[in-house]
Amino acid sequence: MTYRAYAQVDLAAIASNVAAIKSSTSAEILAVVKADAYGHGLIPVAQTALASGASWLGVALLEEAIAIRKAGIDARTIAWLTPPGDDFVSAIKHDIDLSVSSVMLLREILAAGASIGRTPRIHIEVDTGMRRGGFLDEWKLFLEELAKNRDQLHLVGLWTHFARADEPENTTTLDQVHEFEKYHTDLQAIGINPQIIHLSNSAATLTAPIAHRSMVRLGIAMYGLSPDVKTLGDAAKYSLKSAMTLKAKLSLVKSAPKGSAVGYGGTAILKEDTKLGVVVLGYSDGIPRNTGSSAGVSFNGRKAPIVGRVSMDQFVVNLGSDCAALSGDYVTVFGGAPEEDGYSIDEWAAAASTINYEIVTRIASRVPRIYVN
Ligand SMILES: *Cc1c(COP(=O)(O)O)cnc(C)c1O
Repeated sequence: MTYRAYAQVDLAAIASNVAAIKSSTSAEILAVVKADAYGHGLIPVAQTALASGASWLGVALLEEAIAIRKAGIDARTIAWLTPPGDDFVSAIKHDIDLSVSSVMLLREILAAGASIGRTPRIHIEVDTGMRRGGFLDEWKLFLEELAKNRDQLHLVGLWTHFARADEPENTTTLDQVHEFEKYHTDLQAIGINPQIIHLSNSAATLTAPIAHRSMVRLGIAMYGLSPDVKTLGDAAKYSLKSAMTLKAKLSLVKSAPKGSAVGYGGTAILKEDTKLGVVVLGYSDGIPRNTGSSAGVSFNGRKAPIVGRVSMDQFVVNLGSDCAALSGDYVTVFGGAPEEDGYSIDEWAAAASTINYEIVTRIASRVPRIYVN
């Protein structure tokens, strides 16, 4: 049997990206594998990253960290987005590092540790400017709680997250580093010296060595994509190789006359007689419904743009009247070898008014992942 569509993931590209970053910094590398490794597949990516120079894994959710343990991976793993009420007993039993950014969470984690007689491993998140996660108003109260309970905790790390590291000209990142130092000093003043200091996402890893400290959290760059093509340039500039290629079959190729209105709402009118191809992928597979005609597919090195609206399971492309593609042939949606000259993930992101992160993470689980290399 052949797949109607598949996302091919090049693990050698991921290995090469991790190795490239590793050789550019003395910091440890935490491979960010949340959201099913940005759609690339949690376990194969985690194993590849660890084999290529990463020493830590990072995820958002506790269930993602537990899935890593259940696959038999025992590398240091942190889950940084665990709301109150999560199963911290399981987290501690699975030896998962937890992030703390409220006193309420600290108390829950302490109680969980006490109930099984084990010491939780925690990383303190501080809000240095992004105003998302991290301690801000409760900081002083937290320091008091910490002083009372420090023997019940293994204080592993101190960390923050940058809001604008993808704008290298912007001074916000340095301001955040400066804020971070204040929190760090407060901790040192009560005798706490976390071994792992981590601030940098991919953008800061690529552009702000001053923020590397003891560990960097490498996400999008590991998948071979630029954090922001406009401000930082494309991935090739950093010797990063895109890992995902999305392929799908044409369920049907047929000729249609000039003047035809294609798809729901008849939003696209054919300007000439042409061949249309029906691609077996739709918005339920993660193809953004509002993608414009500046993205599409490629066949034999030639681009075929989207015509009309993307449907739930399929979309239509204009193959051109002389295209040799037949019903059942595969087309490349994005990625692929450079000589194929198809659409890139960044072109798809621009055509759908979004970012490359969203294009890869939204590819649905009904699209099989096929691993190469
Ligand atoms: C997702 C995430 C990262 C990785 O960001 P990239 O821009 O993909 O490198 C790093 N740190 C935290 C806390 C994150 O949530």
